[in-house]
Amino acid sequence: MKKDDCIFCKIANGVIPSPAIYEDEDFKVILDRGPAAKGHALVLPKEHFDNVFSMDDATAGKVFVVAAKVARAINKTFGCDGINILQNNNEAAGQTVFHFHMHIIPRYKNDTVNVGWIPGEVTDEQVAECAEAIRKNLN
Ligand code: AMP
Ligand code: ZN
Repeated sequence: MKKDDCIFCKIANGVIPSPAIYEDEDFKVILDRGPAAKGHALVLPKEHFDNVFSMDDATAGKVFVVAAKVARAINKTFGCDGINILQNNNEAAGQTVFHFHMHIIPRYKNDTVNVGWIPGEVTDEQVAECAEAIRKNLN
């Protein structure tokens, strides 16, 4: 399914032109137009999924293969010191475009990109309880 008013549906399917780093039957990989760093790329499925919550297993499985391939090419191209591969789901997690996309962000020592959190503290019991609660909802 494509969504009529979705900019990433239009880009992924060539309705709006954008230079592709990589393209196959299921994905187009483009450069982010508001990059965190030079070479910041986005993996876009050609089908519309709002985010990971509505994505099927087959597409979810393929997306990281594409991301890894492009990450290796970006690494080779720019000789960066690291790469973040990340993906935001829902507004609370920083999602601003509601068509699933995976970010590939080249990182350089002392760059200004900010991907981080303050580590919390948990007991063994809390870890076990949390793992059990999540396990019950796997499908
Ligand atoms: P997120 O906040 O995870 O939803 O990321 C959305 C990303 O899409 C941001 O990094 C934007 O810079 C990028 N973006 C928005 N519109 C476009 C566009 N037309 N072409 C390329 N990147 C875009
Ligand atoms: Zn879409």
